[in-house]
Amino acid sequence: MSDTCAENGLRSVEAAKQMLIDSITPITETKTIPLGEACGKVLAAPVLAALDLPPCDNSAMDGYALSGGFERYTVIGKSLAGHPFNGSLEPGQATRITTGAAVPTGADRVQMQENCTLEGDQLTQSRAASPGENIRCRGEDVHTGQCLIPVGSKIKVPHIALLAAAGVAEVTVLRPIKAALLSIGDELRPIGTPVSELGDGDIYDSNRIALKAALEQLDVEILDLGCWPDEPGKIREAFMHARDNADFVLTSGGVSVGEADYTKTVLQELGEIGFWKLAIKPGKPFAFGKLPKASGETLFFGLPGNPVSAIVTLYQLVIPALEKLRGTADTQRQPPLQTRARLLNSIRKKPGRTDFQRGYTYCDEDGIQVVETRGIQGSHILSGFAQANCFVVLPREGSDCATGDWVTVEPFAAPLK
Ligand code: AMP
Ligand code: MG
Repeated sequence: MSDTCAENGLRSVEAAKQMLIDSITPITETKTIPLGEACGKVLAAPVLAALDLPPCDNSAMDGYALSGGFERYTVIGKSLAGHPFNGSLEPGQATRITTGAAVPTGADRVQMQENCTLEGDQLTQSRAASPGENIRCRGEDVHTGQCLIPVGSKIKVPHIALLAAAGVAEVTVLRPIKAALLSIGDELRPIGTPVSELGDGDIYDSNRIALKAALEQLDVEILDLGCWPDEPGKIREAFMHARDNADFVLTSGGVSVGEADYTKTVLQELGEIGFWKLAIKPGKPFAFGKLPKASGETLFFGLPGNPVSAIVTLYQLVIPALEKLRGTADTQRQPPLQTRARLLNSIRKKPGRTDFQRGYTYCDEDGIQVVETRGIQGSHILSGFAQANCFVVLPREGSDCATGDWVTVEPFAAPLK
């Protein structure tokens, strides 16, 4: 993996993302699972509809199924959802009908009950129903044999509903990808360590639990390897174990060049790893590469240790790469939704790096999309990030912004939302 960098010695976010995606080959192993367990997984084989949807012409309303256009009808029975009318209507005849009930043979329209008056078995209407009114036609949603969702789709709630309605009880999906997750830093203490036991300068290992929470939303199985000291021998041991037991290794900390050169040395012994300086703020240092092993290779993503940088680089770079790894189709890996919003505060910015400031966007009382940044924009400031619902994306070559400027905002999507 080359260390060559672009302009100003920094690699652009877009170029870095593309390089990651281009160098990853999706997994191919599949498994067949019950539909109820499929939400969030990636579809690996086409799913065809086993029946038409709706399966028969049925009523969109509670009312009366009518045969032909007349002033008066004779009601001869009823068709309830799950209890169709056995028989057929002659012109001028009607049946009571409920929403979802099969439209009897011979009926060509449904009048809603609010427009009907019944005297004995004689029905009149306050306004005439037109042909086809309130009838949901067989197959107007889905035809038998139709491909319901394309291979490579991430299965979402509407897909589950569609597949279930179309008679699909099992789906073939790509297997979950497996991450080995670890933190590196002498100062790190596991969550749950009593505050009284923290030494001077010790901090909680907040990255690992946050990264784990994010990955779990992407159907990633996690091998949590804990936190590791800044010691080459131990780091080597941890990386080898991680490599042998996962599709990819995700670390945070210890990738800033200079300060932790031995991480670099260890990684370069084990594989081909690039230490990138990215034109991204927060999050400049980033390591990516491949660790060969007997059965192929394991990807390696080394995130910066600063907590905001770790989450931002995970979100902007690693997740798109993981979507490729887990088999999500190109068309499903759309760039994040961005929109424009008017700034409610000024922002200081130096040209050189794309800045993903943490902000809060909403529609004001005049219907204008506005945004304000939240908290100090430091790569260690988690409280502002926790109040944010979007990134304010400031282009690489942009400089200061004034109150009232229009800026690009990127509303948080999963797993930040
Ligand atoms: P590094 O990338 O190792 O130079 O660390 C940069 C900053 O991130 C330092 O202030 C570290 O203490 C902090 N840091 C590193 N790893 C973690 C972690 N797992 N959780 C929280 N903060 C971290
Ligand atoms: Mg460190």
